Amino acid sequence: MKILVLNCGSSSIKFQLFNMKNKSVPLKGIAEKVGLKGSFVRIEKANGEKVRFEGEIIDHLVGIEYILGITTSKKHGCIEKLNEIDAVGHRVVNGGERFSASVLITDEVQAEVERFCEIAPLHNPANLKGINAIKMLIPEIPQVAVFDTAFHQTLPPYAYMYAIPYSLYKKYGIRKYGYHGTSHYYISKRACDILKTDIKTQRIITIHLGNGASMAAVKEGKSIDTSMGFTPLEGLIMGTRSGDLDAGVLSFIMDKEKIGLSAISTLVNKQSGMLGITGVSSDMREIEDAANENHNERAILGLDMYHYRVKKYIGAYASVMGGVDILVFAGGIGENSPESREAICDGLEFLGIEFDQKKNKGLRSKEAIISKSTSPVKVMVVPTNEELVIAEDTMRIISEMKKKSRK
Ligand code: ADP
Repeated sequence: MKILVLNCGSSSIKFQLFNMKNKSVPLKGIAEKVGLKGSFVRIEKANGEKVRFEGEIIDHLVGIEYILGITTSKKHGCIEKLNEIDAVGHRVVNGGERFSASVLITDEVQAEVERFCEIAPLHNPANLKGINAIKMLIPEIPQVAVFDTAFHQTLPPYAYMYAIPYSLYKKYGIRKYGYHGTSHYYISKRACDILKTDIKTQRIITIHLGNGASMAAVKEGKSIDTSMGFTPLEGLIMGTRSGDLDAGVLSFIMDKEKIGLSAISTLVNKQSGMLGITGVSSDMREIEDAANENHNERAILGLDMYHYRVKKYIGAYASVMGGVDILVFAGGIGENSPESREAICDGLEFLGIEFDQKKNKGLRSKEAIISKSTSPVKVMVVPTNEELVIAEDTMRIISEMKKKSRK
């Protein structure tokens, strides 16, 4: 079975073509600057060869048509005809309270995803564009939606409700949804596979640190709390997002700076976080360099704030789970920054976290245990693989669908 996984952002389209026989990826890539000047597609073949195609990509439809063209091209492709693709799996960011698992995309599902555009205005519309493009280009191929919010649908009400008038929850669905669910699911499960332990017996704290960053408390295989909220703005300090913030600050800034809703939203989503604090960059590598090489004070402050916030959530999640057995790092920073992992775990021996600096040093993008062998809590690095989860869910749903239609 061959499955195309699409992750459509507002100006990018990431794709991976899976051969599910051996879960290999013969072709993957990304279309960037979709709808903007200087758009291009970058691909990587199974042998590691990388190719870049420049070209005008005015929208998602053109981008996906371009990607499908490459997939079937003699020179760079890996299939002869598009009908060799059995299904397309999409990352869909918000599935609201309606979807607690992946689903086959029908007109009704699509309408629901559209309804949640209001909650996820930066993400769901792009996901829908991807779904519609496939519908136009290869209408006979079934499509599956895999939601970022689904894994967190097991949160209990006392964890997902906000203490604002209850009627607003009823009226608008204002509550914590949580995001990065596919990653939290994958890394918690994979950590237990590596340790050869039953996830049903474990209290796991998953720490996904990328440009966007979030944590989850995973007890008995279920997410019981997570740091992102109604939108992906809440929780940890991120590249350009503030994370947790006194809501009173927003109206204060709006009043003082005489700015409206859209400007304040841009301020906390795009101009805050590590970029806003350090003034250096939103990119962790550049911030670490500025702190280590130039002793840039604001970069040092930003890093201290970043690590402190993660540490605070570790305490909170250990507390709500009655302890912790496994701590898992993932995401660009979690997988590649030994410095961040060390600073976050520093001083947590009282929780049973015995961090091993030697094992951590220089470790990048590899599955590993970075706690001492005597440590009651296992600290791990597990590179995330959301695309694989999307491909596996898609395969399962398509196989069930085929079985049903045979009956
Ligand atoms: P996204 O959320 O966009 O998928 P990623 O998971 O790719 O983001 O993470 C991007 C972040 O990872 C950036 O801040 C980048 O600086 C950071 N990163 C990547 N490699 C390293 C590294 N070697 N050291 C520190 N940070 C790194």
